[in-house]
Amino acid sequence: MPEAPKILSDSADCIDDIVVENNNKVLKFIEDVTADADEVQRRVLSEILSRSANVEYLQRYGLNGCTDRETFKKVIPVVTYEDLKPDIERIANGDTSPILCSQPISEFLTSSGTSAGERKLMPTIEEELGRRSLLYSLLMPVMSQFLPGLDKGKGMYFLFVKSEAKTPGGLVARPVLTSYYKSSHFKNRPNDPYTNYTSPKETILCLDSYQSMYSQLLCGLFQNEDVVRVGAVFASGFIRAIQFLEKHWSLLCKDIRTGTIDSKITDPSVREAVMKILKPNPKLADFVEAECSKGSWKGIITRLWPETKYIDVIVTGTMSQYIPALDYYSNALPLVCTMYASSECYFGINLNPLCNPSEVSYTLIPNMAYFEFLPVTRKDELTGSISEPTALNDKEKQQLVDLVDVKLGQDYELVVTTYAGLYRYHVGDILRVSGFKNKAPQFNFICRKNVVLSIDSDKTDEVELQNAVKNAANQLLQYEASLVEYTGYADTSAIPGRYVLFWELSVKDSTLIAPAVFEDCCFTVEESLNSVYRQGRVCDKSIGPLEIRVVENGTFNMLMDFALSQGSSINQYKTPRCVKYAPIIELLNSRVISSYFSPKCPRWTAGHKQWCTQN
Ligand code: AMP
Repeated sequence: MPEAPKILSDSADCIDDIVVENNNKVLKFIEDVTADADEVQRRVLSEILSRSANVEYLQRYGLNGCTDRETFKKVIPVVTYEDLKPDIERIANGDTSPILCSQPISEFLTSSGTSAGERKLMPTIEEELGRRSLLYSLLMPVMSQFLPGLDKGKGMYFLFVKSEAKTPGGLVARPVLTSYYKSSHFKNRPNDPYTNYTSPKETILCLDSYQSMYSQLLCGLFQNEDVVRVGAVFASGFIRAIQFLEKHWSLLCKDIRTGTIDSKITDPSVREAVMKILKPNPKLADFVEAECSKGSWKGIITRLWPETKYIDVIVTGTMSQYIPALDYYSNALPLVCTMYASSECYFGINLNPLCNPSEVSYTLIPNMAYFEFLPVTRKDELTGSISEPTALNDKEKQQLVDLVDVKLGQDYELVVTTYAGLYRYHVGDILRVSGFKNKAPQFNFICRKNVVLSIDSDKTDEVELQNAVKNAANQLLQYEASLVEYTGYADTSAIPGRYVLFWELSVKDSTLIAPAVFEDCCFTVEESLNSVYRQGRVCDKSIGPLEIRVVENGTFNMLMDFALSQGSSINQYKTPRCVKYAPIIELLNSRVISSYFSPKCPRWTAGHKQWCTQN
């Protein structure tokens, strides 16, 4: 997501000079903080700890107001969300004492990572919005070094807000981007050429996803010749927009032709904002209609938005599965991953944005938080699983390395200490050091720890999948059938993508089991998965119905033989709960006897199960 340096004047004469001056300032800032990375990190930690000297959490461990790294590392444990849950629940229930942070918790950011099936709640404070804006403000000056002229056109970005809830204590809980788009940092951003988007803010802030998408596409199409870059946050979101266009282009063309907006768009603020832009344009309507009705959608992005120079979407991590579709729709325009961020903290940016997606590396910006790194070793390349020490003893705690001490080529798990009250917190991401910008390391994003299946922002781990499959397979017992083995993969060959599970059964007479039983199993798996998955199915429609493919007996033995032939050790072999390697998927598919889909959407409501919802 792009954002801009603060340009306060909009006088046409001086705007070019201001842009250049501001770009130079930003690039110098990046040079300075990366050259002085260790000192910046020392200062950040000392600032966080001196501000938080009175907080209950640090007092509990006896930090006693110390602000140096050595004492901090000695006395403060490395933790996960589960360790913090009791403190977080107290805050959610209305305890306003300084439990984690001396500044008031302004809201909770609901992470796409889950705990007990519900989104994790990340406390945040007002000033963090400024830190997020700072990271956004670095992106376009970096980009402009590689592609000049971006300040002369518009960005067509599909950005959305999601529903929010209130905790029992009255704090708002919502995703980090919803919080950002609703903040004055975004809504009242100063006029400048890098935040010139085709979508009026009212279309982004509309909670109804159909109206929001429709109106953003309408404005993007109407201003097609001004668009120089297009994007969304994640690749999956951008592809969803193109798919929406495939379905609704004739309605959109009608609106462009007549200069009116379809009656399904009922939000008055959206209608008003769009009508300020839209005028009847039959020529453009003919053009869009001709392109969209050609049959092939290959290169549709460059056909409809001919000046587009790149697609700004995250295609690292699990999003890499969407690269072929993006290449197809754009005739292989550059795919640009600009930043790496999370609800806990915004981490870093890509200083070489035109690089190949497989080479993307993020430079962590040393003043965003205090960063530490836990070395991890890669266990099994075939299944992609990672091994790392689980319970850290005192010695291991000291082995977490500082930002400037990581080693080239080594994998690490990221641990952060933030201004908002997380201390030595496992983010859950595995990163590999790919190089250095001055003293600051650059990292390839390798994977999210433990995640086996993901289509959009859902992250299903092995334990969740195991429980969901167990709940479903229990239904087979009454038919004297049982599940022998299973594995899964995220099938994104069609949009929306879906979870596919391969099941091998032990069964007396398979003809006694009606298809409806397996369909029920699909549904039970979905009902048992976490709330981010169910939201993707129900609300965002970004995930399609789950599929179970029953495979012939002996298939999983063949899978094991295959793994052994590739060098796995027979003593250590375990059935992978997710498969990504194409020959394995081919093998499984070649043994499918029958397949079934979930017949309906699982249940989902905004907010944690026990809270009332706001929207
Ligand atoms: P959330 O807390 O829901 O905002 O999700 C944050 C997580 O999304 C991170 O911890 C990563 O696992 C993932 N993520 C964010 N940015 C990137 C990126 N540029 N590449 C790959 N994964 C990312």
